[in-house]
Amino acid sequence: MLKASAARPLARLTNTYRVTYLRAICTRRSSFPAEGSTHLPDVTHDDLPIVSQDVGQVAIGWSTREWSRFHNIWLRDHCRCSKCFHSITKQRLFNTFDIPRDIAPIKVEAKANGLEVTWPSKELHVSVYPWSWLQRNSYDPPLKRPPEFTDKILWGSKIQQAPPTVVYEEIMADNDRGLYKWLLNIHEFGFSFVTGIPVTPEATEELAQRIGFIRETQYGKFWDFTSDLAKGDTAYTTLALGAHTDNTYFTDPCGLQLFHLLSHTDGSGGATLLVDGFYVASIMKELHPEAYMLLSSVPVPAHAAGEATCLYSPSPAAGYPVLGHDPVTGELTQVRWNNDDRSVMRHLAPDLVEKWYDAIRLWNGCLTSADSEHWVQLQPGTAVVVDNHRVLHGRSAFDGKRRMCGAYIGVDEYKSKLAVLREKFAPDAVVQAASAIPDTQVDGRSIWNPAL
Ligand SMILES: [Zn+2]
Repeated sequence: MLKASAARPLARLTNTYRVTYLRAICTRRSSFPAEGSTHLPDVTHDDLPIVSQDVGQVAIGWSTREWSRFHNIWLRDHCRCSKCFHSITKQRLFNTFDIPRDIAPIKVEAKANGLEVTWPSKELHVSVYPWSWLQRNSYDPPLKRPPEFTDKILWGSKIQQAPPTVVYEEIMADNDRGLYKWLLNIHEFGFSFVTGIPVTPEATEELAQRIGFIRETQYGKFWDFTSDLAKGDTAYTTLALGAHTDNTYFTDPCGLQLFHLLSHTDGSGGATLLVDGFYVASIMKELHPEAYMLLSSVPVPAHAAGEATCLYSPSPAAGYPVLGHDPVTGELTQVRWNNDDRSVMRHLAPDLVEKWYDAIRLWNGCLTSADSEHWVQLQPGTAVVVDNHRVLHGRSAFDGKRRMCGAYIGVDEYKSKLAVLREKFAPDAVVQAASAIPDTQVDGRSIWNPAL
């Protein structure tokens, strides 16, 4: 049951209390991948880095022991002067393939704003690269830097003591602060409750649209459904559903799912189940590293075939592993798991068949352990949003008549809105450091924005 105290918005707690409290109830934090070993000093006007030209590259000495090297072709290609980069559209304005392969600067200089490079050309052509931007983008070597965003907070069943919650009115307010708080909750925890919603599909749809476009699928755009099997999916029955992610049969499963129970009459049951897939994966990695490897490498095909007019399977047809990772950082980025939608495992190597079934048995064991499961009985007026790339959801069986509404939102729409609000409420350190350079910011967006 969702107790009154448990539903108290985290935002109302003081920050110190919130952090301490969360440390107590959350078992583990995701580790940010190590990126090199050095930690850089800030560049000050009195103590500029040493710059020098080397064969084919420019070397920057941040301190006596710490250097970065950038290839000439790389620097020229990343010029963000007004001739090379459109400050409004944030698009490249020149042809990379017009740059001579062996281009070399006429002059390199350390200036207060950053590295200044003068290029050979008929007209004067000078590039300036802010120091903090060069540190962030250093690739030889990659430099250790603080995470660009707050860590994700992994959770188990104890999250019930203080689940992330935001109030509807705050989210709908024009100043966007409540919306930012909501999206940060989703970023950190992979889910968030919203309380105080008018119990109508219209208000719920407006709530979903605060984040971005609703993603239309074979289930419709904004759903408003009961257990009448109107669509050929078990979601439209009264059956219990184990913890799963949605759309494993899509090439790009939806990013967020919002649902709001509008009414439940003449019956009981139908509790909502949430499980943090990243938390369960972190346990698997620690206790069963070989199984973790198989879950991360063996693709799993899936299908949606319950509607005569649709027959979905992902591309490529072999599907995707249960655990997806960032190919550069190795960070876990996506959980895809719906055992009911799984298709024929015809591509498994013979010697992996039993090992793979053992691996999913261990995975299922961790997913369904009491330590992982967060059960909540949703009430009309409280919606939940889950990050469908991280948190699995399910429900217990029920009887009576339930009316549920909700929507899918694409992962790119969600991340775009979060990036825009972050730009507004938590400006990036590089952007702030580079703000003294003229003509770099249009409508609040800098040409040194970390996404560009
Ligand atoms: Zn330029």
